[in-house]
This record gives sequence, structure tokens and C-alpha cells, in this order.
Amino acid sequence: MTAEAKPDFPYVQSYWSLDQELEVSPPLNEDHRTEVVVMGAGFAGLASALGLIEARPDLKVTVIEAHHAGYGASGRNSGQIFNLPPFAWFLQNLSNYTHRTNARRAVRLIDDQIAKTFALLAEAGHDFECEKSVLQVVARNAVTAAGAAWVCKRLQKAGVETSFFDGKAAQGRVGSATRAILDVPAYRVHPFKLAQSLRKVLLSRGVSFYEDTPVDHIHSHTGGVTLRGPGYTVEAEKAVMTTNAYTAAHNIDLDFAYPKVTNSHTYMIATEVLSQDVLDKITATGDGFGDAALRFYYGRLHNGRLLFGGEDRKSSVLPEEDRHKASFASLHAEMLRRFPFLDHAEIYAAWGGAFQSNVLEIPQIRRAGVGGNVILNVAYGGNGVSGTLMSGRLMRHLVLHVQDDPDTLAHLQLLADTGVPWAGLVPSGIGLAATFLRRSLGFRY
Ligand SMILES: Cc1cc2nc3c(=O)[nH]c(=O)nc-3n(C[C@H](O)[C@H](O)[C@H](O)COP(=O)(O)OP(=O)(O)OC[C@H]3O[C@@H](n4cnc5c(N)ncnc54)[C@H](O)[C@@H]3O)c2cc1C
Repeated sequence: MTAEAKPDFPYVQSYWSLDQELEVSPPLNEDHRTEVVVMGAGFAGLASALGLIEARPDLKVTVIEAHHAGYGASGRNSGQIFNLPPFAWFLQNLSNYTHRTNARRAVRLIDDQIAKTFALLAEAGHDFECEKSVLQVVARNAVTAAGAAWVCKRLQKAGVETSFFDGKAAQGRVGSATRAILDVPAYRVHPFKLAQSLRKVLLSRGVSFYEDTPVDHIHSHTGGVTLRGPGYTVEAEKAVMTTNAYTAAHNIDLDFAYPKVTNSHTYMIATEVLSQDVLDKITATGDGFGDAALRFYYGRLHNGRLLFGGEDRKSSVLPEEDRHKASFASLHAEMLRRFPFLDHAEIYAAWGGAFQSNVLEIPQIRRAGVGGNVILNVAYGGNGVSGTLMSGRLMRHLVLHVQDDPDTLAHLQLLADTGVPWAGLVPSGIGLAATFLRRSLGFRY
């Protein structure tokens, strides 16, 4: 496709749901009583319900979703899952024993939890195209290369298996300008199939599922929680709120404070099926890639296509902004800037989604509302899937008050205690500058 013949972006649903048969449970249109109600069937909601039912198989759990499982960011993302905790934890002073132990424990815990969840789904016969892979973090200039070298050492200190490719060793691995590459371990999945698989496992375990059922009122009181929506009321002992960025679209009436967060949009385009030669030029190893330019860009291959995405902080969270023509146009231009040889490639799909985050990208997982009867499980950032899957494990403590897992308790404490890591920022800045200087003087990683 030439620069003159720009695509007009077919405004279709998520690429991942295009060829999928969608199973949707009937909406709730009568009054309902349950022990725990989960609002939202993205990965955070699905994992929360699974964590609860695994902790207490006899528990009465109900999931209520405004559209269908995987409707939000969970069914639209690029399907690259890095088993990493929030990056702020790596900015702490990792020479300090406590910080290092915390970071290592968090890495191991998230890794374990994701592996367990995937094993459970595979055992139940679900295929969500899961493969172990790496994400190639591309550094395009001397400053970002020094940053990547420094991050690599930090991650290794915290027990993450990373590799760093510098200069010639990095050339040709990704077909765009590359100074260095940091490989971070990741899983690659089909995100929509993953959401649907989790839904099916929950149904098989007796969870009540209501889709096309928006919640528009949550009232927390001493006796529990009351939810209301069009034509129904739910009375529950506890409620888990996992509505994330789509909370804003539904304008829910809450009687407790919602965390301070911002909503951002990220967009993706998928090319037509490309020849193997072209795919090899995009990424020689076949692994996904991402890099921070002025905005964050990332990509991966799927079924012979390139899926290319990027964030657009300027667009708001209104549902119609999920299809934002200006964002698609600048994303397409960025893809061509990196891979000019794609100028003839037709665009097969274009879709977007919203995510919510706070300044540190720390998810908000805690009790709220009267008597702590509402459990907030929101604010997963742009690399949030690992955190959402991990969150299920935390529900046994937050909802059921089971205190039998010291790792879970430590993880929750870490989430609650994390602020701006001032004490780590100064040494981090010095370490980063020293890495840059060493590299400028010709000392390699
Ligand atoms: C295009 C894109 C690419 C991304 N790429 C990656 C990636 O490669 N790797 C990664 O780790 N992360 C990625 N992310 C981020 C990741 O997808 C999110 O952090 C994660 O999916 C958030 O999950 P969630 O369950 O919190 O929210 P969501 O998946 O948004 O789920 C929230 C659910 O709540 C429902 N809901 C909202 N309000 C109501 C209501 N009032 N009543 C009932 N239901 C309601 C919504 O319909 C929705 O289904 C990406 C995000 C996008 C949009």
C-alpha cells in the first residue's frame, strides 16, 4: 500500500474475536442472592472468581458482566504476558536485602500463579494458543541502550532470566533501527480464547454467570453489598469490583471512594497475511517486541500477520474512542516508519481498548466500602495481564479472610506499602548515568 493510498481502517471488533464463536450467558433480570459477586469478566474478574472457587469449592460465586467475557482490554490486548511485578519494585534499592527479597518473591509468585492457571486450563482441555516466548525490548539509541543494559542487571538481581544483545549481536533480530535488545521472558497467548476458557472453567465449577448485565449502582452496608442494574438487584455478602477502565463508560453510582487513576487507550492494527520472508524481516526470532519511543509501541506475529500496537494518551475512555481513526492513522504511520517494506501491506483489522493505571502502575487491590465489603481489584496498566491473573490468589485473603499463605500476605503488604520509591530513585539515577558513561567510553555490557 503506498503512502497516498492510506487504509480507511475498517472499524471492526477486536481482531481476536473475529473468527470466534461467542458464547454469552443470559442476562440477569430478577433479584438474586449470592455469597460473593464479581463485577466484570476481564482477566481480573475471571481470575478472582477462580481464586475464590478454588479456595472454597462450595462458595456461591456470581459473575456479572456488562457485555461478555473478554469484552474489555482482556479480549483485545496483544496477548503477550510478562511475569513481572510492577516496575516500581525494581526501582527500589536492590542491594538492600529486604527489597531484593521482596522483588524476588514477587517474581516467583507471579510466575507460579500464571503457570498454575495455565496448567489448570490445559488439563481441562482448553486451547488458548499458549507458548513460552520472550518479549524483545528494543533500544533504538545510545541512551535507551544504556537504560536497557541497566534494567537487565536489575531484573537479573531480582531473579528474572533476561538476556541482553548489544551492537552487532542485536542487529537483524528486529527489522527496525536497533542499538540493543533486552529479552524478557513472556508467554504468548490468544487473549480472547484465554478469557473464554476461564469463563468455561468457572461455569463447569458451578459459578453463576450473567452477561449483558451492566451494574449501575453499588451500595455497601453493614449487612453486605447491594448491586442494582436494569431489572435486577443482587444481595451479596461481598463484592469484588474488576470493572477497570470501563468503569467510567458505565458511570456507576458508588458510595465509597474509587482510587485516583487515569484511563488510557491503546490501539492495534493487524496486517494481511505476509510472506515468510517479510515476517522474518520483521522479527528473525519470531518473538514479540516493544519499545518506548515518545509513546510505547509493540508488536507480535500471529497466523502470518503482524499485529502492531501503541498507546495514545490523548484519547478518552468513551466506548466510541475504542475506534479512533486519528489514533489508527498515526499508529499505521509509525508502523511504516519502522518497517517501510510494509508499505504495500493491506490492513486486515484495526481495534482499540482502554486500560486504567495510576502513576506507579501499581494495581489497586484492597478492601473498600462499609466494613470492607467491596474488594477493589482495578487499575491494571498496559502490561497488566500478569497482575490480573495473580490477583485471583489474593482473594482468599481479601474476601474469605483465609490467612494460610504467607506469600500472598507478603504480596498484599507490598502492594499496600508501595509509594514513589524515592530512596531508590537517586541511586537508580546514578546507576543509569554510570551505565551510559561506561558504554560511551567503550565498555560494553
Ligand atoms: C490494545 C491493548 C493491548 C494491550 N496489550 C497488553 C499486553 O500485551 N500485555 C499485557 O500484559 N497487557 C496488555 N494490555 C493491558 C491489559 O489488557 C489490561 O491491563 C488487562 O486486560 C485489564 O484486565 P481487567 O480485567 O482489569 O479489565 P478489562 O479486561 O477491561 O475488564 C473489565 C470488564 O468489566 C466490565 N464492566 C465494566 N463496567 C461494568 C459494569 N458497570 N457492570 C458490569 N461489567 C462492567 C467490562 O465490560 C469488562 O469486560 C493491553 C491493553 C489493550 C487495550
